[in-house]
Amino acid sequence: MTLRFSFDNSYARLPAGFHARVKPTDVAAPSLIKVNHALAHELGLDPAALETPEGVAVLAGRSVPEGADPIAAAYAGHQFGHFTPQLGDGRAILLGEVVDRTGQRRDIQLKGAGPTPFSRRGDGRAAMGPVLREYLVSEAMAALGVPTTRALAAVATGDLVHRETALPGAVLTRVASSHIRIGTFQYFATRGDVDAVKTLADHAIARHAPEVLGQPEPYRAFLEGVVVKQAELVARWLLIGFIHGVMNTDNMSISGETIDYGPCAFMDAYDPATVFSSIDHQGRYAYANQPEIAHWNLARLAESLLPLLAVDQDDAVTIAKQALGRFAPAFNAAYLGGLRAKLGLQQERAEDLALSQDLLARMAAQKADFTLTFRHLCDAAVDPSHDAKLRPLFADPSSYDAWAAAWRARLADEPVPAEMRRDAMRRVNPAIVPRNHRIEAVIEAAIERGDFAPFEEMNAALATPYEDRPENADDMQPPPDRGVYQTFCGT
Ligand code: AMP
Ligand code: MG
Repeated sequence: MTLRFSFDNSYARLPAGFHARVKPTDVAAPSLIKVNHALAHELGLDPAALETPEGVAVLAGRSVPEGADPIAAAYAGHQFGHFTPQLGDGRAILLGEVVDRTGQRRDIQLKGAGPTPFSRRGDGRAAMGPVLREYLVSEAMAALGVPTTRALAAVATGDLVHRETALPGAVLTRVASSHIRIGTFQYFATRGDVDAVKTLADHAIARHAPEVLGQPEPYRAFLEGVVVKQAELVARWLLIGFIHGVMNTDNMSISGETIDYGPCAFMDAYDPATVFSSIDHQGRYAYANQPEIAHWNLARLAESLLPLLAVDQDDAVTIAKQALGRFAPAFNAAYLGGLRAKLGLQQERAEDLALSQDLLARMAAQKADFTLTFRHLCDAAVDPSHDAKLRPLFADPSSYDAWAAAWRARLADEPVPAEMRRDAMRRVNPAIVPRNHRIEAVIEAAIERGDFAPFEEMNAALATPYEDRPENADDMQPPPDRGVYQTFCGT
């Protein structure tokens, strides 16, 4: 049982301006909350070794493992539309990179590991609530099949962090295919440091888009790739009712992974205007705005890359616009394709969009629960007697009946064995997502009573989101009062 990371720290080898070397700060009394065994295996780590006092000391930032080269990365970002030229890792420290069992390079980062040169007035720490939330939601997203950063471990620090009140502190070990953000490109571009933009782009290409290397215009191809990945990612979010909550350009990863789970949430009742974040007063990051915001963020990336796209400025702008033009078709294909699958439709027909939009409009008007509506449709596709589960989700059940008649007429036109259709629908319509009121209960049990059993249970339930399991019944239910829970920035 030895704790050995085979680090190979390519980002730390980039020029000095890319990062600050900084060690994690020790904590009072580290104690393990959880190690993600399956992920540890993927990374070639021994989970049992991570659970020893030596392992917990590493996960808490008390000791730096051999081969690590800890850094905080520099980046900038548009936050709620306003540009800040220097943000950077203010409370996250990259220990290093390991190449996993499948050959993929993965960052291992401690979030909440103490101050860095980028902390500004922050304390560099994370409270336990947001750490548990990120652990649950990022692992749920992975199980749902959505590209995301992962949670390798959570440890309590034994220290208090001071927010509105004093809260127990924790450190999350985050794993990502990289932590390069749109804001990382902006950081160098706004300084006019074209060499650094090129160095960063070359690094990002080597990690995320090696296939563009042989192409005549690799930077254009790289930008197009990021545009398409982000468009598909946001489509995936919409299809499961996910709201990121803080889509600032520093929270958008070049890899196409969902990153920085702060005030995120899954919708209960469907409402495209849903906003959860307590600080998003304008509704900038509302559920239905997410595609437009992703496109806006990508325009900031394209601007940052302009000097690499062509020698002539006008040519570069033309190329950037063409690349951004990839967004709408990629999003529409992923979103409409996803809706078709959710409704059990295999053939593509012109009227599919209208059929799905009609359902969504009725769900919004009738406050139907997003996850349960689609999940129950899987059974209703086989046998109309299951409409009995759907009708009560709609304030006026006849609104569902009217839509279901049109849907069934369309289904009848596609000769697919009923059970096959149901099983295919079950693979895209989750039974269980991390609902906010359940996460809040998990956090409360952990913080108020030191009881982590609900965290373990919820984490286990979220690992098989496409299966109906009676033991998960509580996690499947919407909140009793259908209230909108505000989530707070994980600071
Ligand atoms: P976030 O809202 O978590 O995406 O963070 C936005 C910026 O604020 C990033 O540069 C973070 O590193 C920084 N930040 C957030 N919380 C803290 C904190 N507690 N201490 C220091 N910096 C922080
Ligand atoms: Mg962030």
